Amino acid sequence: MPGTELFGAEERKEINDVLETGIFFRYNHDAQRNNIWKAREFEAEVCKLVGSKYAHAVSSGSTAVQCALAASGIGAGDEVIVPPFTYIATVEAVLMVGALPVFADIDETLCLSAEGIRKVITPKTKAICLVHMCGQMADMDAIMAVVKEHNLILVEDAGQAMAASYKGISTGLWGKAGAYSYDFFKIATAAEGGVMVTNDEEVYRLADSYSDHGHDHIGNNRGMEQHPIIGFNFRISELHAAIGKVQTQRVPFIREKSNEYKKYLMEKLGQVPGISFATLPDPDGDSATFLNMFLPDTETAGKVVAEFNASGVSGFNYWYTNMYHFINQWNHLKDLKTASALGVEKFGAPQDYHNLDIPKAQETIGRLISFGIRCTWTYEEVDALVAKVSAAVTKVMSVEV
Ligand SMILES: *Cc1c(COP(=O)(O)O)cnc(C)c1O
Repeated sequence: MPGTELFGAEERKEINDVLETGIFFRYNHDAQRNNIWKAREFEAEVCKLVGSKYAHAVSSGSTAVQCALAASGIGAGDEVIVPPFTYIATVEAVLMVGALPVFADIDETLCLSAEGIRKVITPKTKAICLVHMCGQMADMDAIMAVVKEHNLILVEDAGQAMAASYKGISTGLWGKAGAYSYDFFKIATAAEGGVMVTNDEEVYRLADSYSDHGHDHIGNNRGMEQHPIIGFNFRISELHAAIGKVQTQRVPFIREKSNEYKKYLMEKLGQVPGISFATLPDPDGDSATFLNMFLPDTETAGKVVAEFNASGVSGFNYWYTNMYHFINQWNHLKDLKTASALGVEKFGAPQDYHNLDIPKAQETIGRLISFGIRCTWTYEEVDALVAKVSAAVTKVMSVEV
C-alpha cells in the first residue's frame, strides 16, 4: 500500500480546495465551484501517467472493471475467460454484467497463460478479462496472439498493476479497456475509487454514461441533456478525486523506489537455497509492489509462513494466510450464492465451478509467498527483512533434507 505511506500535505491541500467550495459533485454548479474540477484533473493525471487517450474515474476498482466490461459490449450470456487467482471483484464484475465466467489456468507469471486460455475457448467465448496479479504483468505477446487468433475482446483488470508495463505499453491499454483500483491498499489511493482507461472514444463515451445513469454529460449540463442508455451510479466524488489526483502524481516515485527495493531483495534472497521468484515477462516494466517468491512446494511454503508469523515477517501465502484471492476459498462463488439470482443460473454455468481443470494454478499458488514492498523503507529495514526471511527458509529447508 505504497500510496497510503505517502499521504501528506499535498493531498490535504487538494481536499481543502473542495471543502472550501462545498461542491462534492463532479458535474454542474459552475458558478459556485470556483473552477475546481478534481475528477477531471484526476483523469488528466491518469492519462498522462499511463499514456491513454481517455480515463474515467469512478467509485471503485470493481466498478471500473464493470464499466470496462459493459462499455466493451460484454453482457448477458457472454462467456468471459477469467483467472482463478485474482481478487474476486474481477469475477463479480463479470457476473454483474450478466456474463458467464469461464476459469482458465495460469502460469508462473501469476496471470492467465495463453495455453490455459486456449484450453477453455469455445464458439461462445466473447472476451478475456485478464488480471495482472500481484503487481506483475502477464506474458502479453502470447496473450495477444490468442486474442487475435480467436478475435476476442480483451479487457484488463489492472487493479493491482497500474504502474506496470510490458515493452513500454502500460497495463490497461492492450485491449478495449482497462481498470485500475484506488482503494486503500493499492499502488495509489483515492481512499476509495477506481479509473477506467481506453483509447477508444466510443468505449469512453459509453463508460461515462453507464457510470452515471446513462446521462451523456454533453455540455457538462447534467440533468438537462439526453440519456441514451441505462446505467447506474458509479460516480466518484470530488473529495476522492482530489486525493486520487495527487496520489497519481506520486506513482513514478513509488515505482522507482519499489523497483529498487524489489531488485535488491531478489538479488539477496535469490542466493538462499529453496527460493525462486515469479516470472516477470518484462522486468523493466514491473510495478514492483509485491515481491513474489516460490518455495519448492506447498507444504514447505506453509512451514515458512508459520516461521514468518513467529518472527514478525509480513509475508503471506494464498493457501494458508490469505483467504480471498484464490478459487479454492470461494465456496460462495462455486455455489453461485448471492442476495438474489445471477444470470449465470438462468443461462447455465459454462463449467462445473467445483471441479475446474487448473493444475498449474493449484501447484503454483500453494508454494507462493508474497510481500508488500514499502516505498519508504530504509536499507536497514530491507536488510533486516532479508536476514529474517533467509533464516526462516534455511531453517525449514534444513529440517526437510
Ligand atoms: C482491489 C482489486 C479490485 C477491486 O478494487 P476496489 O477498488 O477495491 O473495488 C479489482 N481487481 C483486482 C485485481 C484488485 O486487486
